[in-house]
Amino acid sequence: MPTSPTTDTADDDTNDEPNSALSTARRQLERAAAHTDVDEGVVERLKHPTKLTQVSVPLRRDDGSLEVFTGYRAQHDDVRGPYKGGLRYHPEVDAEECIGLSMWMTWKCAVMDLPFGGGKGGVAVDPRTLSSGERERLTRRFAEEIRDVVGPKQDVPAPDMGTDPQTMAWFMDAYSMQRGETTPGVVTGKPPVIGGSHGREEAPGRSVAIITREAIDYYDRDLSETTVAVQGFGSVGAPAARLLDEWGATVVAVSDVNGAIYDPKGLDTNDVEAHDERPGMVSGYDAPQTLTNAELLELDVDVLIPAAVGNVVTTANVADVSAGMVVEGANGPTTFAADAVLEERGVPVIPDILANAGGVTVSYFEWLQDINRRQWSLERVHEELESEMLDAWDAVRREVDDRDLTWRDAAYVVALSRIGEAKSTRGLWP
Ligand code: NAD
Repeated sequence: MPTSPTTDTADDDTNDEPNSALSTARRQLERAAAHTDVDEGVVERLKHPTKLTQVSVPLRRDDGSLEVFTGYRAQHDDVRGPYKGGLRYHPEVDAEECIGLSMWMTWKCAVMDLPFGGGKGGVAVDPRTLSSGERERLTRRFAEEIRDVVGPKQDVPAPDMGTDPQTMAWFMDAYSMQRGETTPGVVTGKPPVIGGSHGREEAPGRSVAIITREAIDYYDRDLSETTVAVQGFGSVGAPAARLLDEWGATVVAVSDVNGAIYDPKGLDTNDVEAHDERPGMVSGYDAPQTLTNAELLELDVDVLIPAAVGNVVTTANVADVSAGMVVEGANGPTTFAADAVLEERGVPVIPDILANAGGVTVSYFEWLQDINRRQWSLERVHEELESEMLDAWDAVRREVDDRDLTWRDAAYVVALSRIGEAKSTRGLWP
């Protein structure tokens, strides 16, 4: 994934709400726990990671100097299987962020019923300041420093902000060299030639589109009469917008970091280049109207898909958000307080842990392919992803229908119940 010029949160955070990933993840957990009969002790345990590994990563720069970076791997919970989650290269990576994001991964894997728990890690570094050779040396050394805590049966990293399939290839190679055996299952998101899965890169966007389609149907609407605005035409937003367009929706606005393009009659999304294809081309596209990212968030559309960064729907702008429904493509785009306002107004918010979970789901397919040493076709990946997404959607929808919960609470209840049941069945040792 290309590094965005900003952090994973918008710059316009309000000051009145604690928006760190960890504080939001803990508050969401507490709120959902109230709807389940999961043991209080288990809930308390889930507020903390199992393990946090912090390492120093020395790097020989191209000019011969030596620089030392800090790397992390947070492992939240593995009751249902190995830890799973991204590795980020970003200056603001720290222990707390990794822990919060690893918690989200635990819920995401559980809501999808994947046999994984949550992990997240990274190195506090700006990858744009590194040459390709420096990125490779940093990755190999980081892999070596955390080698003891990762592995196909232990913890399986993946690309995240500032890292990409090539980073995963270097990581896998470094790990395999030390193990003395080629071990593709140690990471996912690799290039297909060394055990990566077809369809991995567009999977989170595809799942956003599938879940949007199901949500529209749930509210007795027709996709062909649905208008959609997508913030962030990148790895997640572009495939989501293009699929919805292909399935008949009218995508009226898309944006990149520089701004948005808008056509009330609908954009030809295949004609708009995605951020990772040519940065800046979204806002450079010749559309009838241009908007700011803030204006895009306020458009009167049926579905708003924030798919760029976290914390973009906040108490500062939620009153002006006019969409009939929000489907979260990015991780954590809606703050806890803004979420409550949307709930009060009856605006459904389909949460990130369900909507963009296609990424980790196809990572699971990749892990299966690596273990079995047999690659799946793209058609099979699409079919199995569709089926996994529909199963997860049905499980969450049942909670919404039976217990009158918000979509976010329902998704957390599904996840937490599965984790709680696994914990009580396994028991506490000793
Ligand atoms: P990306 O870098 O490919 O695309 C991000 C897009 O958002 C780009 O168009 C960029 O120009 C735009 N953008 C960046 N900063 C912005 C800002 N402040 N305001 C408006 N637009 C901005 O990133 P991505 O992989 O598509 O990830 C987007 C979000 O989805 C992140 O929250 C990420 O954590 C989440 N996510 C990604 C994956 C994945 O596998 N790629 C999976 C699940 C969730």
